[in-house]
Amino acid sequence: MDQGRHTRRQLLKAALGGAAGIALGVPARLLAAAQGGGAAATTVQLADDLFVVTVGGLNVLARAGGGGVVLVDGGSAATSGAVLKAVAALPNSGPVRTLFNTHWHPEQTGSNETLAKAGAQIIAHENTRLWLTTDVKWPWNGQTFKRLPKVAQPNKTFYTSATLEPGVRYGYVPDCAHTDGDLYVYFERPNVLAAGDVVSGQGWPTVDYITGGWVGGMVGGTQRLLSIANEQTRIVPARGPVLSYADLKAQASMYATIYERLSTMLNKGRGPSEAVAARPTKEFDAQMGNSDEFVRRAFESLWAYLSPDA
Ligand SMILES: [Zn+2]
Repeated sequence: MDQGRHTRRQLLKAALGGAAGIALGVPARLLAAAQGGGAAATTVQLADDLFVVTVGGLNVLARAGGGGVVLVDGGSAATSGAVLKAVAALPNSGPVRTLFNTHWHPEQTGSNETLAKAGAQIIAHENTRLWLTTDVKWPWNGQTFKRLPKVAQPNKTFYTSATLEPGVRYGYVPDCAHTDGDLYVYFERPNVLAAGDVVSGQGWPTVDYITGGWVGGMVGGTQRLLSIANEQTRIVPARGPVLSYADLKAQASMYATIYERLSTMLNKGRGPSEAVAARPTKEFDAQMGNSDEFVRRAFESLWAYLSPDA
């Protein structure tokens, strides 16, 4: 793959420049209003009514107008206040009618309770809803995630795909790229695909195999998104700058390479520490960052999916 393709600088340029969007000159007054808990919102406009609102590194895609705001993800509990203030300040904003949860992680579901209480429909894959009804613990760092109160759980779930309204389609990414409940939302006319954590906008992802994600699914998931997108599609990841189709293609190829190397090591009876030592991501680390944790989790995810005794 082309190593120069998505250096951080180029991605930022793409996100802020003509290819992917127009940076909004946010008036100081609005910026101040959008500050909550030390988190400031930045807003990038992708189309007349479509914006990426970023707080604390977490992206929210907001479609204003059209009889109520549609959000894809809502930030974390800590960033929710700043996100909702920034969304309220968008041109033609209004009440949030629909919130999508691309998956169950707290970085995506932190506005659920507030918005549900205000009457929003929360759409998620059924597996996402199920994870939000139970406590989850990650064994690798002991982190625990408390179930959400009933009111904050998705109130409209689906299994395969559906249309929110003409021109706005959503669907399941069944490959288990990041979790077993990943969804995408595709806005056809502006040609923008919100992809959650199935794509990596900023550094290596967490391979959450406790709730179904695995490195083989990252290959399948990125390939599936390529089949939904086209060469002009702009892809909004859960974090980091807006990506191009070429960026997505490069990621699919990168994850295929890494999957191949890790599964070869698994078949030779190697373990996670040996996988880390073998540096299976070495040509990607300059752009993606230190990969030790990623490789360890990715390798462990193979145990869950490929080991005969799993
Ligand atoms: Zn996630």
